[in-house]
Formats: sequence, C-alpha cells, structure tokens
Amino acid sequence: MRIYAMTGGATGIGAELKRQLQTEGHKVISVDIKEGDIIADLSTIEGREAAVDGIKRLAAEGLDGFIPCAGLPPVARPLSLIAQVNYFAVVATVEGLRGLLEKKKGSVLFVSSNSAPMIAADDPFVQTCLAGDEEAACAEVDGRDGHTAYAGSKRAATIWMRRHSVEYAAAGVRMNAVAPGITMTPLTDRVFADPELGQVMQEFGDSVPVGRTAQPVDIANTMRFMLSDDANYLCGSVFFVDGGSDAMMRADDF
Ligand code: NAD
Repeated sequence: MRIYAMTGGATGIGAELKRQLQTEGHKVISVDIKEGDIIADLSTIEGREAAVDGIKRLAAEGLDGFIPCAGLPPVARPLSLIAQVNYFAVVATVEGLRGLLEKKKGSVLFVSSNSAPMIAADDPFVQTCLAGDEEAACAEVDGRDGHTAYAGSKRAATIWMRRHSVEYAAAGVRMNAVAPGITMTPLTDRVFADPELGQVMQEFGDSVPVGRTAQPVDIANTMRFMLSDDANYLCGSVFFVDGGSDAMMRADDF
C-alpha cells in the first residue's frame, strides 16, 4: 500500500484518480474546499497551511506521491482567485510537503493544461507568479482576462515544476506534469455554460483530432501510470493527454 495526498479530490479528474488509487489498495488523503479528509480553502495562506499540517498529521511516515489537482476555470472571478488556487497554492503545498516526499522518495504530479503553451512564458503575469509575488501577480491578473489567468497560472506552475525538478530529483523526489485537454467535469460545465467562452470551448472540443473530448477516466489512467513504479524514470516531463490537440496546434514545438 502506498500513501498519496492530493488536492481537489472531491470532483472531476481528482475524484476519478482517487477512486483508481483506492481501488489499487492505496491510501489517499484528499484536501478540498467541498469534501475530503481535510477541508481547506487553498486560495488563502491559512488554508494552504491547514492542508499541509493536516497531511503531515495523517501521513507522518512520508508520502509516495502528491497530486496538487485543485483548480479553478477561466470563468472564476475575481481572476486573482485563479492565480491563488492554480499557482500559489500548488507551489506552497508542494514546498510544504517536500520533507514528507523525501522520506519515501515520492513523486509530485502537477496538473497543467494544454492551454499552458497558449501564453508566452515572458508574459508579465507568468513572470510575477514565478517571482513568487502573490500580491503583484493578483494585481496584474485582475486587469487581464480569464484565458490569461487560467493559461498563465498553468504555464507558470509547469515552468516552476521544470525549474525545480533537478533540485528535487537530487533530494530523491521526481516531479512531472500531466497536461489534459478538454475533459468533461464540473469545471468544464462552467466554461461551456459561459456566454463568452462557451462557444469557443465548443469549437475547440469539436476540433479534437481523436474525435471526442476526454472523460476524467482518460486523464486519471495516465496519471495513475505516471505515479506508478513503471514510470519511475520520468522526471521533469510534461505529458499532453489531449486527444492530439497540442500536436495539431504546435506540431514543431516540443
Ligand atoms: P473540478 O472542478 O471537477 O475539480 C476541481 C476541484 O478543486 C474540486 O473538487 C474543487 O472543489 C477543488 N477546489 C476548487 N477551488 C478550491 C479551493 N479554493 N480550495 C480547495 N479546493 C478547491 O475540475 P477538474 O476538471 O477535475 O480539474 C482538476 C484539475 O485539472 C484542475 O487543476 C484543472 O485546472 C485541470 N484541468 C482540467 C481540464 C478540464 O478540461 N477539465 C483541462 C486541463 C486541466
């Protein structure tokens, strides 16, 4: 039995991954704002501390894996909430749990998005996130738009993972990211229902090369593999699990 901790295990991709890991006989500690072993609002510093402290209490022996899966869609408001949950909470919880992960030579699986490469790495929002300045990043993004907030938070978190994967690997902790395409969950329900973004989402969904959008099981299957021993040479990798959309959009760029 392995011990995993995750955020965002209440619904969607996280709930499906949790179900699969539990079916394999593993213990999964879930942090979420809605329901879970630890209820915490990860948009706040106190919520992140409660999440890390709670996981430390429940997994004192160490962690085999951590999946910071909680996330908000581009339609969430204020936009700063997206920066707080999708970037700052991810980095804070990974750093807070590093000691527990080192104990068992565990791995971290970030949940990026195939929208991450749709924003430049040198965008001011991405850069203020990476500088670790939460107040400045929130101020920057509140004057922008939902796409910038969402794609930018995912781009920044993925760059953070890649920049730190060498140092973490030296301490025995491998970090990787899965980058899903459109997956049918409560998060995407909110985007499809949005008067502005709904139509764009529909068209993007219709263009997926394999001919359909994903179900949570499609993404969780790959995540479960990425967390397994069969994937123990993966380090700093970003896996696009998006039915071919990323290949369609930027074939030469990888
Ligand atoms: P979801 O809405 O079903 O799950 C997100 C979870 O995060 C929920 O359980 C929610 O309660 C939790 N959460 C939200 N805000 C929180 C907060 N402040 N504190 C604690 N928990 C909070 O959505 P999903 O589609 O399963 O998304 C899971 C992850 O996958 C997210 O990081 C999302 O950005 C990413 N993703 C999703 C898609 C997609 O198309 N669904 C595509 C790419 C990436």
